[in-house]
Amino acid sequence: MEKCEMKFCQSCAMPLGAPDMFGTNADGSRNEDYCAYCYKGGAFTSETTMDEMIEMCVPFVSKGDPWPDEETARKAMQEMFPQLKRWRK
Ligand SMILES: [Zn+2]
Repeated sequence: MEKCEMKFCQSCAMPLGAPDMFGTNADGSRNEDYCAYCYKGGAFTSETTMDEMIEMCVPFVSKGDPWPDEETARKAMQEMFPQLKRWRK
């Protein structure tokens, strides 16, 4: 594992940069694995399947940032998401 590796939310794959982008644990401390949109106060903000999460993310990550279109974005996420902590079997 690389120490300076960029962190990604282990639920929606959003890059975690600023401290306020991290989710929170039940005791209010910072959760290092998930973003503030996915994880709050020690629980996921919504019960969703991996496919639903991908569909939710598509409009935000297509159109050139970082993927050129929805088709490419969906395909990339379908390969990436099963490796995230939340969706790993
Ligand atoms: Zn997230």
